[in-house]
Amino acid sequence: SLMITDQCINCDVCEPECPNQAISAGVEIYVIDPKRCTECVGHFEKPRCVEVCPVDCIPLDPAYVETREQLLAKYTQLTAEK
Ligand code: SF4
Ligand code: SF4
Repeated sequence: SLMITDQCINCDVCEPECPNQAISAGVEIYVIDPKRCTECVGHFEKPRCVEVCPVDCIPLDPAYVETREQLLAKYTQLTAEK
């Protein structure tokens, strides 16, 4: 999963771009739900949120390091929920 740092300026550009509805407005800044973020695996070549964020504040979350296989499995599970 990726994460949003406190550099976030609450511009709301990333939220509608996420294919997994993993991003939402938190109490102070936007937040990513690690259970829904596939790092865009299954949808796009590169993370959409990282591409659109104007302040570059979305790094990998060191608390949720995942392999491509794990991310793909999460994508499959999320797709099955729909
Ligand atoms: Fe959503 Fe992709 Fe960003 Fe994860 S990397 S929060 S799935 S847009
Ligand atoms: Fe925050 Fe970047 Fe998302 Fe804007 S695009 S809300 S600055 S994380």
